[in-house]
Amino acid sequence: MIQKVKGTQDFIDLTLFNFIRNQTEKHLAEYNYTQIATPIIEHTELFLRSLGQHTDVVSKEMFIIQPKTESQELNSLKEQICLRPEATAATVRAFIENSITDLPWKVFVMGPMFRYERPQKGRFRQFHQISIEIIGAKSISQDALLIKMLDQLFKKKFLLDNYAILLNFLGCYDDRAKFNEVLKAFLKTVDDKICDTCRERKNKNPLRIFDCKNPVCKEIYKDAPKTTDVLCASCQAEWESLKTTLELIAVSYAFAPTLVRGLDYYDKTVFEFVSDNLGAQNAFCGGGRYDRLISEISENKQDHPAIGAAIGVERLILLLELIKDKLPIAHQTELNVILPLSTKQHILALLLTNELHAKGLNCDVLLEDTSVKNLMRKANKLGAKHCLILGEDEQANLEVTVKNMMTGEEKRVKQSDVAVYLKG
Ligand SMILES: [Zn+2]
Ligand SMILES: [Zn+2]
Repeated sequence: MIQKVKGTQDFIDLTLFNFIRNQTEKHLAEYNYTQIATPIIEHTELFLRSLGQHTDVVSKEMFIIQPKTESQELNSLKEQICLRPEATAATVRAFIENSITDLPWKVFVMGPMFRYERPQKGRFRQFHQISIEIIGAKSISQDALLIKMLDQLFKKKFLLDNYAILLNFLGCYDDRAKFNEVLKAFLKTVDDKICDTCRERKNKNPLRIFDCKNPVCKEIYKDAPKTTDVLCASCQAEWESLKTTLELIAVSYAFAPTLVRGLDYYDKTVFEFVSDNLGAQNAFCGGGRYDRLISEISENKQDHPAIGAAIGVERLILLLELIKDKLPIAHQTELNVILPLSTKQHILALLLTNELHAKGLNCDVLLEDTSVKNLMRKANKLGAKHCLILGEDEQANLEVTVKNMMTGEEKRVKQSDVAVYLKG
């Protein structure tokens, strides 16, 4: 038996998946975002440049594709292709490549992303994200608006109330460089106490130490310097402004000085939406600013400050499963089921099916059985509102027996009138 690839899943019931898609599309349209789609495959170099070489995603978790016929030519890293691990870098590439000039560019991408990591609760190798970006967003008020928009999405469209918003401010690239030095100096003083992974990270990418789950390290880092301690004057003003704005527009958040997010391109604002109902991987949405990413990817080095967020669809599904009964999920429209009682009525049944569809009615036809009892049981299981029975007698008289499955009431109706009858 061939089974699905490790870390992937079959969606046999798409109810919640589609609910998330529909509600998000509706909500983002209300905030004037446009949906775009970028390819699932991209050049590996795009992510090397954007996410950073020393991030886990790039160093360990990339799905590299080696097409057989071209494998000889694809040896150089530059020509390598991979399955996208996230959508922000791809959106930025699309922004540059399509010479977008109407700013701010408010867009979102929805679809599968791929990371070769250890599968665990709410974490898959093929997972789905809704990646939302505002490119050309210099004002710090954009950050507040984005966070408020997400907060409204989760509260109003998904009826979630059991989550917190974690917020931190990394400062500009200069502040980040300054903070790296301050952090390195601190790490020197605790070098003999931290874990091996942190000791390795300390040299390559010191900010990453805050991702450590080791309780000993976590305790030590409570005394670590904060990114907000070393902000330049203009970043300090933006950080204060962001906090004040969020308070004034009624967004409750918690300051999380160790929140740095896993990717290199973030600067200034970083945030996460977390829920206790998710276990260790408790974030179901996260994002931040990436003011220099566009100039780093593009050739002409023009800066376009930007901010974005990604929603983890699988994690959101875990949260929505807990409150499924309360959600305003649209119920399937009424189904009519046609029951031909022998193969002699099959053609008539197909014609009638066609007629009902032409009149905008939902209908299915049962062609695999001739026992009335079995057919009725099957129709009932399908959730039929009406059963349309076609036996020899009905066929001879150009009629249909319509049975209302709720009331049990049966009525003989002319075949030519049946659509009108069902609609009435
Ligand atoms: Zn700064
Ligand atoms: Zn550690």
